Amino acid sequence: MPRIRQHNVTAAQWSPNGEALGSLDLTKSDAYPFGENVFSAAVQKERLSKDTFKKLQNVLDKGESLDSSLADEVADAMKEWALAKGATHFTHVFQPLTGLTAEKHDSFFGPEPDGSAIAKFKGSELIQGEPDASSFPTGGVRATFEARGYTAWDPTSPAFILDNPNGALLCIPTAFASWTGEALDAKIPLLRSMDALSRSAIRALRLLGDEKAQRVFTTVGPEQEYFLIDEQYYFERPDLVTTGRTLFGAKPPKGHELDDHYFGAIPERILACMLDAETEMAKLGIPVKTRHNEVAPAQYEIAPIFENSNVGSDHQQLLMQVLQNVARRYGLVCLLHEKPFAGVNGSGKHNNWSMGTNTGHNLMEPGDTPAENTNFLFFCSAVIQAVNKHQGLLRASVASIGQDHRLGANEAPPAIMSIFLGAELEKAFDSIASGSGDGNTEAAVLKLGSDVLPHLPMHGGDRNRTSPFAFTGNKFEFRAVGSSSSLGFPNTVLNTIVAEAIDELSDQLEAKLNGSADVPAAVAEVVADSYNGNRQIIFGGDNYTDEWHAEAASRGLKNLRTTPDALPEVISAPTVEAFGKYDVLSERELHSRYEVWLEQYVTNANIEAETTESIARTMILPAALRHLALIDAAQVSSLASGVRELLDGLVSALDGLSEANAYPDGVEGLELAEYARDRQLEAMVAVREAVDALESVVADDLWPLPKYSEILFIK
Ligand code: ADP
Ligand code: MG
Repeated sequence: MPRIRQHNVTAAQWSPNGEALGSLDLTKSDAYPFGENVFSAAVQKERLSKDTFKKLQNVLDKGESLDSSLADEVADAMKEWALAKGATHFTHVFQPLTGLTAEKHDSFFGPEPDGSAIAKFKGSELIQGEPDASSFPTGGVRATFEARGYTAWDPTSPAFILDNPNGALLCIPTAFASWTGEALDAKIPLLRSMDALSRSAIRALRLLGDEKAQRVFTTVGPEQEYFLIDEQYYFERPDLVTTGRTLFGAKPPKGHELDDHYFGAIPERILACMLDAETEMAKLGIPVKTRHNEVAPAQYEIAPIFENSNVGSDHQQLLMQVLQNVARRYGLVCLLHEKPFAGVNGSGKHNNWSMGTNTGHNLMEPGDTPAENTNFLFFCSAVIQAVNKHQGLLRASVASIGQDHRLGANEAPPAIMSIFLGAELEKAFDSIASGSGDGNTEAAVLKLGSDVLPHLPMHGGDRNRTSPFAFTGNKFEFRAVGSSSSLGFPNTVLNTIVAEAIDELSDQLEAKLNGSADVPAAVAEVVADSYNGNRQIIFGGDNYTDEWHAEAASRGLKNLRTTPDALPEVISAPTVEAFGKYDVLSERELHSRYEVWLEQYVTNANIEAETTESIARTMILPAALRHLALIDAAQVSSLASGVRELLDGLVSALDGLSEANAYPDGVEGLELAEYARDRQLEAMVAVREAVDALESVVADDLWPLPKYSEILFIK
């Protein structure tokens, strides 16, 4: 066993900066700082005229468009509120195609002729910004010499204040578009897809007899997995610093086999960090609800309550930022990479998705008798049809280089999309599709065998942890999203393809209804046809098995194993058609994303490959040579030959990697991505194998990198 290197955190460092939740008097109704730093409806009501407040609320509640003459009044109120909170600067926060957020800060304060400075913030500054956009990825939508890009205020996502020990910043969520109006971000398509789904769903609701609903919102509740490790180890691992994952590391004697970490008691330093982070999130209005240890050692999960897709997605970006910032206060680093440690469970993000009306109905709520719930059956059928038709695109929406280590690795769903409905729903759909049998399942209670324990109402089906897309009671859980991913594109895809399927089913329903008033009978026919036509996507078994891979192939389901396999789906004919029909992304905008994501894959692969080569050559090789010198000095030839062999293996693997790292001429686009996957990443695997073998023989005090047994177990 290697020695455990000293880590440098003292208990004194754990106490957050003076504002610990523990010091609040929570019996006072307003003591919990939820929304304290948000320009919320309550703040708006207090600071805006009645008329302006009402108009702004209508934008939020009914999706009405904004009257820009309100901007000056809103800007002024926002500025006064922000100044009172200590903010000196403001920024438009946007989400370029980097997958991250971007911001450029401007001071409220400008000099006056008399030498003083006063704070100003005009409506025009609230509504529109013009960052120099030339360095953001556009995938050819715009040449660098046409650098103009605009940010536009999104009034449906509340502005907030970001605190820093040395000041504060007013953050305004914005959309980001090119001079020619093309979306260069994750937010615009998401908002467009929410509008599209609302239009389709309202049309369907009218056919189904609902005259009241005016808007249908899609909702998202993400469950975020992440690692927290000691920052000392992080900074001693150039691979973590540069690529977000360890490129080397032999399997430790102990992993998660004992299942002693999952849902275990949370270590004190970790809990202190979580409490602090959650307080920060509460101030920002992120409705964090649940925390627990995850499966892997040093892995955790945090889950907020669901919100509308746009706000939920913005909050998710903010949540990742807060987790990373707060971790550092505790001498920790938060890793959001999908697979930071080979051989150890990676991290994902479960994307719980549903749709609900402004009148308060969740359209994915089956009720006690789903077989009789006409609306539910109709909308659920639409989801099934959409996922089946666009399975490849859905897979592509979660593709990234990090994900390629995780999907299908027996810890995350495979790269094959399928839907788990659960026994109760499958029974309901089967009986409708076959036109026979009772589709309802009797309500049951679970008896725990002791009189003092309550009888629990049973769910209509067990869970299926292995399914990429599972129905979980009153929502679908898209379980294949990567831990570092933005929620923007996966939800844009879901909304758009479901909008399309709702319309397809509505067309059929309309044709059947023609004159007749028997809505339930007509819906049953539409549902039966749709279910029979899309059954291949339903799978209730174990998604991790080889048998499923074989069966999925025989069903004709797509199995897009890697990012280069999946990305072409983004520009496939059915994608272009659906996204065009609903004005979510034009063909040009889809192509720009395809180009950007391919380039990101290639760039990241190259960074990983070069980092691998550099660490192996400049840190590992010298350590192994020193070790060999020790053996030679001691003249133990029986030990020397084994080490020499491993060293030879490393040197030849490194030569292979050097060769792969020199790109071939004239190869680009998808072909280059395939080259990176098949040559560079493969050559890295060979180097890693050689290094990991050396790790278990080279003297521990000569080994230059902290080992998995330290990184994962010192908390
Ligand atoms: P489960 O036990 O099935 O995981 P929870 O109620 O604990 O169910 O919810 C898990 C996640 O699902 C949470 O992040 C929650 O916000 C989200 N969620 C619940 N209802 C919805 C909904 N209608 N739309 C989107 N997400 C939802
Ligand atoms: Mg869950």
